[in-house]
Amino acid sequence: MPELPEVETYRRYFEETSLYQPISDVYVEDTKLLTTDYDTLNQQLKNRQFIGTKRVGKNLFAQLDAPYWVHFHFGMTGDLAYFKDEEDTPRFARIIFRFANGFKLGFLCPRKFERIGIVEDIDEYLTRKKINKDALEITVEELAKTINKKKAPIKSVLLDQSTVAGIGNWIVDEVLFQAKIHPEKISSQLSENEILGIHKSMRFVIQTAIDLQANYDDFPNNFLIHARGWGRAGLQDTRVGICPECGSKIGVIKVGGRTTYFCANQQKL
Ligand SMILES: [Zn+2]
Repeated sequence: MPELPEVETYRRYFEETSLYQPISDVYVEDTKLLTTDYDTLNQQLKNRQFIGTKRVGKNLFAQLDAPYWVHFHFGMTGDLAYFKDEEDTPRFARIIFRFANGFKLGFLCPRKFERIGIVEDIDEYLTRKKINKDALEITVEELAKTINKKKAPIKSVLLDQSTVAGIGNWIVDEVLFQAKIHPEKISSQLSENEILGIHKSMRFVIQTAIDLQANYDDFPNNFLIHARGWGRAGLQDTRVGICPECGSKIGVIKVGGRTTYFCANQQKL
């Protein structure tokens, strides 16, 4: 699932490829992918240009030279591809922005969970969808305020986009592992120091993932992610299931219905 680091990579790709080119029209294979009706979307984009981008959590907003934005939600498997020739059209490019210069930006929607629509006011949209500040922008004070007023396992609280935007399942496990906090610890019971640790680890884990363009194999050796067995080596990787710091067996539990990896030796309740 595209999480904050992947969406940040898409945002940079969008900026490198698709700004300052008049849009001739928008092709949409399936209108179920739209949150704005097709005629309105096409009309509002025609002859306009993208002039910038903004990302909040997993949401990408592309700014037009008009008082509105195009909102991209990448669902489970969404991606972007910029191309020119018709025969290079990627599979699953179910929405295509065609530019006047002949180039095209495809929004790849393999499983049709992706969405696109016009948003006029980003702040109003985020408030309505209960999405708090982005994980790289939220201050430790703002984070402490939302964590302390909730009374649930810290893992569930961090996954809730109304606490902080952009934290998905593996990121929260990694953050709590690095901050040495048990995923089931009740949020309102966390100390100021523990929240400081979460804030610091969150920034570090996300920044590392962005710098490595979310290529998990390249993550530092002391990251819990290697114990999950996602790498190219998969199950042959001797690091699978073993704590990269203390060598004990990694615990796998369910927290709020989500599979959770943690080191019982270093993350105590
Ligand atoms: Zn350990």
